[in-house]
Amino acid sequence: MKARVAEAERAAGRPAGSVRLVAVAKTVPAEGVVPLLEAGHRDFGENRVQEAEAKWPALKARYSGVRLHLIGPLQSNKTREAVSLFDAIHTIDREKIARALATEIARTGRSPELLVQVNTGAEPQKAGVIPEEVTALASHGRVDLKLSLTGLMCIPPAADVVAPHFAFLAKVAQRLGFGTLSMGMSGDFETAIAFGATYVRVGTAIFGARTRN
Ligand SMILES: *Cc1c(COP(=O)(O)O)cnc(C)c1O
Repeated sequence: MKARVAEAERAAGRPAGSVRLVAVAKTVPAEGVVPLLEAGHRDFGENRVQEAEAKWPALKARYSGVRLHLIGPLQSNKTREAVSLFDAIHTIDREKIARALATEIARTGRSPELLVQVNTGAEPQKAGVIPEEVTALASHGRVDLKLSLTGLMCIPPAADVVAPHFAFLAKVAQRLGFGTLSMGMSGDFETAIAFGATYVRVGTAIFGARTRN
Protein backbone atom coordinates (compact mmCIF):
# COMPACT_ATOMS: atom_id res chain seq x y z
CA MET A 1 0.00 0.00 0.00
CA LYS A 2 2.79 2.44 0.86
CA ALA A 3 4.41 1.55 -2.44
CA ARG A 4 1.20 2.36 -4.33
CA VAL A 5 0.97 5.73 -2.57
CA ALA A 6 4.62 6.45 -3.41
CA GLU A 7 4.06 5.46 -7.04
CA ALA A 8 0.98 7.70 -7.27
CA GLU A 9 2.96 10.61 -5.82
CA ARG A 10 5.67 10.05 -8.40
CA ALA A 11 3.17 9.73 -11.27
CA ALA A 12 1.54 13.00 -10.20
CA GLY A 13 4.92 14.76 -10.08
CA ARG A 14 4.56 15.36 -6.37
CA PRO A 15 7.33 15.15 -3.76
CA ALA A 16 7.85 11.81 -2.04
CA GLY A 17 6.17 11.86 1.35
CA SER A 18 3.66 14.59 0.47
CA VAL A 19 0.74 12.20 0.95
CA ARG A 20 0.00 10.55 4.30
CA LEU A 21 -1.73 7.23 4.36
CA VAL A 22 -4.44 7.03 7.02
CA ALA A 23 -5.17 3.35 7.68
CA VAL A 24 -8.91 3.19 8.38
CA ALA A 25 -9.29 0.69 11.21
CA LYS A 26 -13.06 0.84 11.85
CA THR A 27 -14.44 -2.63 12.71
CA VAL A 28 -10.88 -3.98 12.95
CA PRO A 29 -10.08 -5.21 16.48
CA ALA A 30 -6.95 -4.04 18.30
CA GLU A 31 -5.05 -7.22 17.46
CA GLY A 32 -5.75 -6.55 13.79
CA VAL A 33 -3.97 -3.18 13.84
CA VAL A 34 -0.99 -4.30 15.92
CA PRO A 35 0.94 -5.66 12.90
CA LEU A 36 0.85 -2.22 11.25
CA LEU A 37 1.89 -0.53 14.48
CA GLU A 38 4.75 -3.00 14.81
CA ALA A 39 5.77 -2.18 11.24
CA GLY A 40 5.97 1.49 12.21
CA HIS A 41 2.75 2.81 10.73
CA ARG A 42 1.27 5.62 12.86
CA ASP A 43 -1.71 7.29 11.13
CA PHE A 44 -5.03 5.53 11.75
CA GLY A 45 -8.65 6.49 11.12
CA GLU A 46 -11.85 5.66 12.96
CA ASN A 47 -15.38 6.78 12.16
CA ARG A 48 -17.01 6.21 15.57
CA VAL A 49 -15.86 7.93 18.73
CA GLN A 50 -17.12 5.12 20.94
CA GLU A 51 -15.34 2.38 19.02
CA ALA A 52 -12.13 4.44 19.06
CA GLU A 53 -12.41 4.96 22.83
CA ALA A 54 -12.61 1.23 23.35
CA LYS A 55 -9.67 0.43 21.11
CA TRP A 56 -7.10 3.21 21.04
CA PRO A 57 -6.14 4.44 24.54
CA ALA A 58 -4.31 1.17 25.24
CA LEU A 59 -2.67 1.13 21.81
CA LYS A 60 -1.61 4.76 22.13
CA ALA A 61 -0.05 3.96 25.51
CA ARG A 62 1.88 1.07 23.97
CA TYR A 63 3.06 2.74 20.74
CA SER A 64 4.37 6.29 20.74
CA GLY A 65 3.59 8.76 18.01
CA VAL A 66 0.21 7.34 16.98
CA ARG A 67 -1.95 9.91 15.17
CA LEU A 68 -5.61 9.06 15.36
CA HIS A 69 -7.98 10.61 12.80
CA LEU A 70 -11.72 11.01 13.27
CA ILE A 71 -13.25 10.53 9.83
CA GLY A 72 -16.89 9.94 10.82
CA PRO A 73 -19.61 12.31 11.97
CA LEU A 74 -19.09 14.05 15.29
CA GLN A 75 -22.02 14.74 17.64
CA SER A 76 -21.64 17.78 19.87
CA ASN A 77 -22.11 15.66 23.01
CA LYS A 78 -18.98 13.68 22.01
CA THR A 79 -16.63 16.60 21.46
CA ARG A 80 -14.95 16.17 24.83
CA GLU A 81 -14.02 12.56 24.12
CA ALA A 82 -13.07 13.42 20.53
CA VAL A 83 -10.70 16.25 21.49
CA SER A 84 -9.00 14.15 24.13
CA LEU A 85 -8.46 11.09 21.93
CA PHE A 86 -8.09 12.26 18.33
CA ASP A 87 -5.11 14.05 16.79
CA ALA A 88 -7.03 15.12 13.69
CA ILE A 89 -10.75 15.69 13.16
CA HIS A 90 -11.74 15.62 9.48
CA THR A 91 -15.47 16.10 9.86
CA ILE A 92 -16.42 19.58 11.03
CA ASP A 93 -19.56 20.33 9.07
CA ARG A 94 -21.66 22.81 11.03
CA GLU A 95 -21.40 25.77 13.37
CA LYS A 96 -22.62 23.89 16.39
CA ILE A 97 -19.75 21.39 16.13
CA ALA A 98 -17.22 24.11 15.43
CA ARG A 99 -18.37 25.97 18.53
CA ALA A 100 -18.31 22.87 20.73
CA LEU A 101 -14.78 22.08 19.53
CA ALA A 102 -13.61 25.64 20.18
CA THR A 103 -14.91 25.42 23.74
CA GLU A 104 -13.23 22.09 24.37
CA ILE A 105 -9.93 23.16 22.82
CA ALA A 106 -9.87 26.30 24.97
CA ARG A 107 -10.70 24.27 28.05
CA THR A 108 -8.06 21.57 27.56
CA GLY A 109 -5.34 23.31 25.58
CA ARG A 110 -5.27 20.28 23.33
CA SER A 111 -5.61 21.17 19.68
CA PRO A 112 -6.12 18.44 17.13
CA GLU A 113 -5.70 19.21 13.46
CA LEU A 114 -9.08 20.39 12.14
CA LEU A 115 -10.65 19.90 8.72
CA VAL A 116 -14.02 20.88 7.30
CA GLN A 117 -15.99 18.13 5.59
CA VAL A 118 -17.62 19.22 2.34
CA ASN A 119 -20.62 17.40 0.88
CA THR A 120 -19.38 17.96 -2.67
CA GLY A 121 -22.29 16.06 -4.18
CA ALA A 122 -24.85 17.92 -2.01
CA GLU A 123 -26.38 14.54 -1.10
CA PRO A 124 -29.22 14.97 1.40
CA GLN A 125 -28.31 11.91 3.49
CA LYS A 126 -24.61 12.66 3.66
CA ALA A 127 -22.63 14.57 6.28
CA GLY A 128 -20.63 17.62 5.27
CA VAL A 129 -21.34 21.27 4.66
CA ILE A 130 -22.84 21.96 1.25
CA PRO A 131 -20.53 23.74 -1.20
CA GLU A 132 -22.46 27.04 -1.00
CA GLU A 133 -21.79 27.25 2.73
CA VAL A 134 -18.13 26.22 2.98
CA THR A 135 -16.78 29.75 2.89
CA ALA A 136 -19.12 30.97 5.61
CA LEU A 137 -18.40 28.02 7.90
CA ALA A 138 -14.64 28.31 7.38
CA SER A 139 -14.58 32.01 8.10
CA HIS A 140 -16.84 31.65 11.13
CA GLY A 141 -14.49 28.96 12.45
CA ARG A 142 -11.30 30.85 11.77
CA VAL A 143 -12.34 34.41 12.54
CA ASP A 144 -15.02 34.18 15.21
CA LEU A 145 -14.04 30.97 16.96
CA LYS A 146 -10.27 31.28 16.36
CA LEU A 147 -10.07 27.65 15.30
CA SER A 148 -6.93 26.78 13.37
CA LEU A 149 -8.64 25.00 10.52
CA THR A 150 -6.14 23.55 8.09
CA GLY A 151 -8.01 21.72 5.36
CA LEU A 152 -10.99 20.13 3.68
CA MET A 153 -12.29 16.59 3.42
CA CYS A 154 -14.83 14.96 1.09
CA ILE A 155 -16.47 11.63 0.29
CA PRO A 156 -17.78 11.78 -3.29
CA PRO A 157 -21.16 10.20 -4.09
CA ALA A 158 -20.72 6.45 -4.61
CA ALA A 159 -22.24 6.52 -8.09
CA ASP A 160 -20.27 9.49 -9.43
CA VAL A 161 -17.03 9.81 -11.35
CA VAL A 162 -14.76 10.99 -8.53
CA ALA A 163 -12.29 13.25 -10.33
CA PRO A 164 -14.57 16.33 -10.58
CA HIS A 165 -15.27 16.10 -6.84
CA PHE A 166 -11.56 15.95 -6.02
CA ALA A 167 -10.80 18.80 -8.42
CA PHE A 168 -13.57 20.87 -6.87
CA LEU A 169 -12.35 20.26 -3.31
CA ALA A 170 -8.80 21.22 -4.32
CA LYS A 171 -10.03 24.42 -5.93
CA VAL A 172 -12.08 25.45 -2.88
CA ALA A 173 -9.13 24.66 -0.58
CA GLN A 174 -6.83 26.80 -2.66
CA ARG A 175 -9.29 29.69 -2.65
CA LEU A 176 -9.59 29.48 1.14
CA GLY A 177 -5.86 29.06 1.70
CA PHE A 178 -6.06 25.51 3.04
CA GLY A 179 -3.06 23.23 2.43
CA THR A 180 -4.55 19.96 3.63
CA LEU A 181 -6.84 17.79 1.51
CA SER A 182 -8.35 14.57 2.90
CA MET A 183 -9.72 12.67 -0.06
CA GLY A 184 -9.47 9.24 -1.66
CA MET A 185 -10.34 5.79 -0.30
CA SER A 186 -9.44 2.22 -1.32
CA GLY A 187 -11.00 2.46 -4.77
CA ASP A 188 -9.85 5.92 -5.77
CA PHE A 189 -6.89 7.11 -3.72
CA GLU A 190 -4.56 7.21 -6.73
CA THR A 191 -6.94 9.61 -8.49
CA ALA A 192 -7.17 11.68 -5.32
CA ILE A 193 -3.37 11.91 -5.17
CA ALA A 194 -3.34 13.15 -8.77
CA PHE A 195 -5.70 15.93 -7.66
CA GLY A 196 -3.65 16.96 -4.65
CA ALA A 197 -4.75 14.78 -1.71
CA THR A 198 -2.46 15.13 1.31
CA TYR A 199 -4.33 12.49 3.35
CA VAL A 200 -5.80 9.36 1.76
CA ARG A 201 -8.11 7.26 3.94
CA VAL A 202 -7.74 3.59 3.10
CA GLY A 203 -9.55 0.74 4.86
CA THR A 204 -10.49 -2.33 2.85
CA ALA A 205 -7.40 -2.26 0.65
CA ILE A 206 -5.32 -2.67 3.83
CA PHE A 207 -7.51 -4.72 6.20
CA GLY A 208 -9.87 -6.56 3.84
CA ALA A 209 -13.66 -6.39 3.53
CA ARG A 210 -15.87 -5.18 6.39
CA THR A 211 -19.41 -6.03 7.36
CA ARG A 212 -20.31 -2.38 8.03
CA ASN A 213 -19.12 1.11 7.29
C1 LIG B 1 -14.66 3.63 5.81
C2 LIG B 1 -14.16 4.95 5.37
C3 LIG B 1 -13.03 5.04 4.52
C4 LIG B 1 -12.28 3.84 4.00
O1 LIG B 1 -13.03 3.22 3.01
P1 LIG B 1 -12.43 1.99 2.19
O2 LIG B 1 -13.25 1.98 0.96
O3 LIG B 1 -12.56 0.79 3.03
O4 LIG B 1 -11.00 2.32 1.89
C5 LIG B 1 -12.60 6.30 4.16
N1 LIG B 1 -13.24 7.41 4.59
C6 LIG B 1 -14.31 7.36 5.39
C7 LIG B 1 -14.94 8.63 5.82
C8 LIG B 1 -14.81 6.13 5.80
O5 LIG B 1 -15.89 6.09 6.61
